[in-house]
Amino acid sequence: MILTRLRLLGFKSFVEPTDFVIEPGLTGVVGPNGCGKSNLVEALRWVMGENSYKSMRASSMDDVIFSGSNTRPARNNAEVAILIDNKERSAPAQFNDTDQLEIARRIERESGSAYRINGKEVRARDVQIVFADASTGARSPALVHQGRIGEIIQAKPEQRRRVLEEAAGVSGLHARRHEAELR
Ligand code: ATP
Ligand code: MG
Repeated sequence: MILTRLRLLGFKSFVEPTDFVIEPGLTGVVGPNGCGKSNLVEALRWVMGENSYKSMRASSMDDVIFSGSNTRPARNNAEVAILIDNKERSAPAQFNDTDQLEIARRIERESGSAYRINGKEVRARDVQIVFADASTGARSPALVHQGRIGEIIQAKPEQRRRVLEEAAGVSGLHARRHEAELR
């Protein structure tokens, strides 16, 4: 899956509209302590469907909204969007008619968040499946957080199996089966 752009507005410390163009190849993010490097990775996980506010270092999901500074008032909403290159048709078949997917998540203070794919409102589950099909996503081993290696080593067999399944590319199928069983 190729991410070509990450846009933030009001997410954590990114109060100004911020648009990162992700060039092909390896991208590094450098900067002094507290400049927002981890917030960026959290924004990426959040738009991919992360629903644990604790894992975003927050005490409620509203904490991802810019909370104000000495010179600026707090915001009441935040939005993160990513652009995904779909020229290779790596997204689910329903998106075969488009070369690019824009996935966006927006949160309004005290009223929760909503997702859109190419402008159309969708469920969190739909967004999570797009990433699961590509063996990536907010909870996938593609995003390695501090302490994660130790966790994998100490994991129970069932948890370790999920990591292997992710690597084998079958997580999308599991997500779909779960969805089918709920119906
Ligand atoms: P380090 O190098 O220490 O890991 P970092 O570049 O990863 O630093 P982050 O943890 O991403 O830095 O950013 C921390 C900053 O984000 C802090 O200054 C914190 O006050 C700010 N911040 C976090 N949440 C919000 C919010 N909701 N509103 C405004 N600022 C926020
Ligand atoms: Mg950090």
